[in-house]
Amino acid sequence: MLQLDRIRRQFDGAHGGVRAVDDVSLELPPGGRLAIMGPSGSGKSTLLAIVGGLEPPTSGRVTLDGVDPYLLDAAARAAFRNRRIGFVFQEHHLLDGCTALDNVLVPALAEGGASVDLVARGVLLLERVGLGARRDHLPGELSGGERQRVAIARALLRSPRLVLADEPTGQLDSRTAAAVTGLLCDLADESGSMLVVVTHDAGVAGRVGGVRRMHDGRIEP
Ligand code: ADP
Ligand code: MG
Repeated sequence: MLQLDRIRRQFDGAHGGVRAVDDVSLELPPGGRLAIMGPSGSGKSTLLAIVGGLEPPTSGRVTLDGVDPYLLDAAARAAFRNRRIGFVFQEHHLLDGCTALDNVLVPALAEGGASVDLVARGVLLLERVGLGARRDHLPGELSGGERQRVAIARALLRSPRLVLADEPTGQLDSRTAAAVTGLLCDLADESGSMLVVVTHDAGVAGRVGGVRRMHDGRIEP
């Protein structure tokens, strides 16, 4: 499970500090889902980065299956992220020179190469997101929705315990957004992964379920 205990993140600047995340406590059971909605600047991306082991909180504790990533050294934390967490961002961050399949396999390459099993899973995931026939295509040959589906397949490659998505449909029209959200939810369920989605879109949040609102760094009760 995922546990956040009194997470705070303060940014200090020349013109005073910003408390981007202010005393957030949350729990998500295994396989659970959470959608976080809130205006721009309310701290959603900062919170997701903290949960994802990308940026330490100023205070408080985050644990995934009992492991606090910020107690690990940098190499162990990178391995923890790569194995246990899948990320989907608003920008798909695909490698332009690599095929759809190679992009899906990127999380395996980070640890020395894709095993036969992982390549098979990558192929299966691309089929599952409706891109089986496009696996040798480059990102530039795919539509925005298709690229985001590749990014989803990549996030799920290692059946991570936790999938984090930051405005995953922010650049898609509402119909494509609904389809992409449905795939993200279905694949997370099939992998038994917890899913946390940050979104502006009430339709997307409703599809994910477990909607919480964030405002001025705080999650509303
Ligand atoms: P959201 O994703 O909800 O739009 P963010 O988490 O990106 O919000 O930002 C929350 C607040 O923290 C904003 O006021 C933002 O300006 C501030 N902030 C985010 N990152 C930094 C940073 N690296 N340095 C200073 N302030 C930051
Ligand atoms: Mg953001």
